[in-house]
Amino acid sequence: MTRNGDRPDLLVVGGGVIGLSVARDVARRGLRVTVLDRDEPGRGASWAAAGMLSPLAEAHASRPFLEFGLASLRMYGDWVRELESEVGESVEYRECGKLLLAFTRSGSARLDEQERLARRYSVSASRAEPEWLRREDPDLARSVRGALLVEEDYRVDNRLLVRALEGGARRARVEIRAGTAVREIRIQGDRALGVILEDGSSLDAGTILVAAGAWSGRLEGLSRTVPIRPVRGQMLSLAPEQLPSRRMLEAEEGYLVPRDDGRLLVGGTMEEVGFRPGNTVRGIRELLESAIHLVPSLESAPIVDFWSGFRPASIDGHPILGPDPEVRDLFVATGHYRNGILLAPLTARTMGAVITGETEASLPPEFLPSRLLAHEGSGGAS
Ligand SMILES: Cc1cc2nc3c(=O)[nH]c(=O)nc-3n(C[C@H](O)[C@H](O)[C@H](O)COP(=O)(O)OP(=O)(O)OC[C@H]3O[C@@H](n4cnc5c(N)ncnc54)[C@H](O)[C@@H]3O)c2cc1C
Repeated sequence: MTRNGDRPDLLVVGGGVIGLSVARDVARRGLRVTVLDRDEPGRGASWAAAGMLSPLAEAHASRPFLEFGLASLRMYGDWVRELESEVGESVEYRECGKLLLAFTRSGSARLDEQERLARRYSVSASRAEPEWLRREDPDLARSVRGALLVEEDYRVDNRLLVRALEGGARRARVEIRAGTAVREIRIQGDRALGVILEDGSSLDAGTILVAAGAWSGRLEGLSRTVPIRPVRGQMLSLAPEQLPSRRMLEAEEGYLVPRDDGRLLVGGTMEEVGFRPGNTVRGIRELLESAIHLVPSLESAPIVDFWSGFRPASIDGHPILGPDPEVRDLFVATGHYRNGILLAPLTARTMGAVITGETEASLPPEFLPSRLLAHEGSGGAS
């Protein structure tokens, strides 16, 4: 890639966990990078998330997804320690484990499935006996039929993470422009030249990366729409007198994630309602019922706050990572759906290598944008 005047080598559209991680990685490889975000960076899905790092939770997922997720999890510790030392702040990365709880027959079948997956992928997980559960976490509901302790399931504070990534990117000399909305990717012939902003002005760049999360499909100018749809997730947080467990807790109906300050996050709804923002009575009720079902004493816990966000979902559930198949100098990194926080380190490393043309770059073929040509006419962005 050659340098040309003031234009950046890479222009990243979207400053969520994905855009910031890739920007920082590419800048550390020596390229000049600019990130554009129409709001404050990191206030999209990356802000709304729970910060669970749980690859096996996607039991239905494909082998490439599970392998990518596990590889990303296994590089997380080193990745965040380096970031924390760069910016001098903690991102609350905790190797805390997760208790998967079953209350019903289908819940028990899910535990069996997760245990099989754990064995297949050499993830440390074991059945928790009821007596052990009662001793460890006495506030858990008595109606628990079974539990699986997945030790290799971790958590991070995603809000602290995006702030640190922003700091790390700036330290790597990434220019970050908040309040800068991109309307269109400017393409001439078969080459991407830059972007056109909402105010009509344009910016040139050597290469462009589309990392606008659930909104990636709304960008104009692309020869084909990036087929991404938003899946709304509502969440809330509680301030119980005492955390019910130092681990994350999950059952079929929802999950509870502790924070170091004593809050307990309750998540998360899955709603196909387009880009309708906000919380609803039904969503909050669902969350509260699931929290009380898992830990009845939470009934008296104060509610701290509630929020929602849009997960970027692709047609086949896989992320969309790599070069555009038809337009040169255009790359895509989106579609991380329920796992963008987990997948950020490996997305950054592989996309960084692909964008800078380094040879070790290897992206699963199942994630490449070119696979979507086969889905033409089968739906698309909504
Ligand atoms: C409720 C909920 C819970 C979740 N829990 C977890 C979890 O526990 N673990 C996990 O790994 N993942 C979780 N996720 C998923 C994870 O949050 C996402 O996969 C991830 O944040 C996606 O990151 P992103 O950078 O692609 O998108 P975003 O974080 O949404 O960032 C996209 C950015 O692009 C900007 N943008 C959009 N359009 C434009 C434009 N035209 N011009 C300029 N900028 C633009 C936006 O302002 C935004 O900052 C959860 C998501 C939700 C909603």
